Amino acid sequence: GAVAVERLARVAAAAETLAQVAYLVGGAVRDLLLGEVSADLDVVVEGRAGEAGAAPTLARTIAEGDKTLRLECFEKYQTAALTWPDGFVLDLATARTEFYPRPGANPEVESASIRLDLYRRDFTINAMAVCLNGPRAWQLMDFFGGFVDLRECIVRVLHPNSFIEDPTRIFRAVRFALRLSFAIAPQTEAFIVRSVSGGLHDLYGGERLKTELGYLLAAPFWLEGLQMLDRLGALRCVHPDLRLTEALAAGMVWLAGAYRTFAPLRATLPQLRLDRLLLAVGPEAAESLPLDGQARVRQRKVRTAMPALVRQTDWSAAGLHQHLAALSPEECLLLASLSEDDASREAIAGYQRRRREPPLVGGADLKTLGLKPGPDFRRILDAATIAQLDGKFVDREGALAWLQNHLQQGNQAF
Ligand code: ATP
Ligand code: MG
Repeated sequence: GAVAVERLARVAAAAETLAQVAYLVGGAVRDLLLGEVSADLDVVVEGRAGEAGAAPTLARTIAEGDKTLRLECFEKYQTAALTWPDGFVLDLATARTEFYPRPGANPEVESASIRLDLYRRDFTINAMAVCLNGPRAWQLMDFFGGFVDLRECIVRVLHPNSFIEDPTRIFRAVRFALRLSFAIAPQTEAFIVRSVSGGLHDLYGGERLKTELGYLLAAPFWLEGLQMLDRLGALRCVHPDLRLTEALAAGMVWLAGAYRTFAPLRATLPQLRLDRLLLAVGPEAAESLPLDGQARVRQRKVRTAMPALVRQTDWSAAGLHQHLAALSPEECLLLASLSEDDASREAIAGYQRRRREPPLVGGADLKTLGLKPGPDFRRILDAATIAQLDGKFVDREGALAWLQNHLQQGNQAF
């Protein structure tokens, strides 16, 4: 905490040499008023139209004589970033306003007053500023009632079209409400419902959806988040057919518990949650969404394996091996989470657990017994894999005994 305050004081001292007014804005102000310390700071400098480089100038002043700071200036965008050795980041920007040429499009930017800069933000609690220099130094600038909303624990949007302009704000509203234990203002909820019922999903494939959904699925309140989005009709943003059914919620909760017993896996739990969520809609949805290549492969393989699982009658590990041998551990987990009864879920999880154990019989054993590599060799090893999955042997000794027995029986059959 003290470190952040000291750094903020340093920003303010540097700002005293600036002709323009600088403000601490956004999440850092909210957190300061809540008595918390932000992981990073955002500063906005109010520039007059046509005036160049106020934010980069302030950044250079702060960094002066301090070799430990990493300075990046983006003159074209009138922004800059300073990074401390411990990873703490200060972002600086010139006050700007944004116009949305069409809903959901990338905004066009124009320099503006601090009031307009705050007005383009998401919620009243995130739209306050603290003046850092000049006659109003350390005054709170609260044009939209953020202070009262913060005291009353309310997430309130700034204007009715906010969610239409940028639907990622729907996910942000839910995330802030749950993270801070705030309520979303009833009118703000109504704006969300109205914006999603207007066919928003068409605008909404893309990286930012993926990022926001990813944050939510990684949060401890992911289930409440999905429930809230579902209640608001906003899962439609992900796909028009997506609903949080009881089966889907139960599958996702099971996945979280099972994941722990299988870790480490190559996909993270939030990634698998996203997979499971999207497996709940038709295969064409997965094709149209911004998934990374691995997620796409996982989903395709699980969808392909599903029909065989529906017809499955032999739930022994050996029986499952027939259909699941080609699936990765992640895909097995996803497939299990798609099953709607505990018994088949646990059978698949059990299969995966057994499969993970190192094979007790190997090619070297066959060679010792005088066998030559060839088709028989492969067939015997496959039989050994299935026998081990079936629990026919559990240690080396048992494995070798099984092998001898198997070979004898094989000889009798020939
Ligand atoms: P956190 O503690 O999660 O970082 P934050 O409020 O700092 O919370 P950021 O995502 O870091 O959130 O964004 C910083 C600020 O930028 C916000 O406080 C808000 O004022 C503004 N902002 C971010 N995303 C949007 C958005 N989609 N629409 C409007 N304003 C936004
Ligand atoms: Mg932030």
